[in-house]
Amino acid sequence: MKNILGFFKNLFNKTKEALTGEIHTVKVKKVKKITPDVLQITTEKPGNFEFTPGQATNVAINKANWKNKERPFTFTSLPEDDHLEFVIKTYPSHEGVTNELLNLKENDELIIRDVYGAITYKGEGVFIAGGAGVTPFISIFRDLKSKNKIGNNKLLFANKAKKDIILKKDFEDILGSNFINILSDEKTKEYEHGFITEDFLKKHIDDPEKYIYICGPPPMMDALEKQLKKLNIDKKHIVREAF
Ligand SMILES: Cc1cc2nc3c(=O)[nH]c(=O)nc-3n(C[C@H](O)[C@H](O)[C@H](O)COP(=O)(O)OP(=O)(O)OC[C@H]3O[C@@H](n4cnc5c(N)ncnc54)[C@H](O)[C@@H]3O)c2cc1C
Repeated sequence: MKNILGFFKNLFNKTKEALTGEIHTVKVKKVKKITPDVLQITTEKPGNFEFTPGQATNVAINKANWKNKERPFTFTSLPEDDHLEFVIKTYPSHEGVTNELLNLKENDELIIRDVYGAITYKGEGVFIAGGAGVTPFISIFRDLKSKNKIGNNKLLFANKAKKDIILKKDFEDILGSNFINILSDEKTKEYEHGFITEDFLKKHIDDPEKYIYICGPPPMMDALEKQLKKLNIDKKHIVREAF
């Protein structure tokens, strides 16, 4: 009986996979809160699984009532790592997937699917992120660092307060003085205060011919694109992803 059930389960998964693309079920190895509302989730990595730094996949939680609720999240580990990592901002008020991820424990399972994503590294430039919009840049910077090619890449990172800065120590180690923070709700001695303005961009974009990578919530992206246009940055040089 167990064998017959196993056969049908396998057949069901194979049929689903053929219809909807590849499906992988991976066990959670570790869940860590890295800011008051951001989780770092490490999972197993399926064999022969490939992605390019900056790319994402659709993720669902392998629990009753959650299996079919997929949401896009970006890989923050390196392609060659033996595990996968995601850095995920949780929104309890949405009562959706990210809220349920707050209950995730070691050995629970995630379902991950095909790899996709608009942001990949094209060349040296200025990376501009708001909050969890930094996730595609985590893997890109880790990859450049591992290849000794971090060069003069710069990260402009906008958050509400210091406690919200995701992987602050990692970025400091990788980028040094090219890690520039701006905080909207907290005044500090070390960081700029307020929202990103044209003047702030002008100060930090030293070469308009370099790439500008932008990722954040849609209102921030709209504002940034208008500001970059005023600074005569050619659209060809802008690499973007809205979260
Ligand atoms: C390509 C891509 C990659 C991404 N990678 C990452 C990543 O690596 N890390 C990361 O943190 N995020 C990432 N995101 C964003 C992430 O996908 C969303 O934050 C996530 O889907 C939210 O899921 P959720 O189920 O918690 O809430 P949602 O799906 O946003 O909402 C669930 C329900 O809550 C309600 N709702 C929606 N908005 C509100 C609101 N403002 N207030 C109250 N209720 C609301 C709606 O009824 C909605 O149906 C990525 C997005 C994209 C497009």
